[in-house]
Amino acid sequence: MAEDGSGKVRLGTVHPTSSPPMIRVEGVHRTYNAGVAAVRALRGASFDISRGEFVALTGRSGSGKTTLLNLVGGLDSPDQGRVAIDGTDLSALGGTDLIALRRDHIGFIFQSFGLIPTLTAAENIGIPMRLRKTDPRTREERVTLLLSLVGLAEQAAQRPSELSGGQQQRVAIARALANRPVLLLADEPTGRLDVETGRAVMTLLRALVNSEGVTALVATHDPELLDSANRVLELSDGTVTER
Ligand code: ADP
Ligand code: MG
Repeated sequence: MAEDGSGKVRLGTVHPTSSPPMIRVEGVHRTYNAGVAAVRALRGASFDISRGEFVALTGRSGSGKTTLLNLVGGLDSPDQGRVAIDGTDLSALGGTDLIALRRDHIGFIFQSFGLIPTLTAAENIGIPMRLRKTDPRTREERVTLLLSLVGLAEQAAQRPSELSGGQQQRVAIARALANRPVLLLADEPTGRLDVETGRAVMTLLRALVNSEGVTALVATHDPELLDSANRVLELSDGTVTER
């Protein structure tokens, strides 16, 4: 991981000749010690994801999907094993570099949308760019482009409560793409949507991943949605298998 002097972390500078996988998870273990019994959520999970892939992560409720996404996104760290993003071992990063990595290189999408209720659609999409101190004009232009990419140009000034669930998730997708991340992590993005809307959101997500050249790891336990993926990884008994 290198600094470019502006306080922004650059990825992909470690291996100028060979290209490492976008995500490498190697022998990862994560146990929760809440209450009386320890929960061994992950017990030696390993997989690689290449640049540009759209990968679905499936498994029953409680199989460890959220745990795994949190580790890949640097929101949590493994008890054992390693996670590397574009050749950078996350355990080697300090708190500031991890924050910069998440802000500048990873987009997160959640089941509950996670929008700020008092802000308009446009303002919600602009948040990641404000955090990165993008100049206002560039930010406005990008917000306008993203609103039209997700089909919400007309809804720019509406607040989340004035939008349908599917529209709110499209705002969240636009927000996740704001800083042009290399990696998109989505945790059951269609979990709160009806089947039709969920399918439409997944199709949109898939199209944007292609057009923006992003790599995506999408957790879902909805078998209908697995069709959109290049690959399906299944979590069970704390390990990952290819399906
Ligand atoms: P999924 O997202 O596939 O539903 P999770 O990663 O949320 O699965 O959970 C995996 C297991 O770890 C479950 O048994 C869950 O109860 C447990 N778990 C998750 N988070 C915590 C936590 N913060 N404290 C204790 N146990 C947890
Ligand atoms: Mg979950």
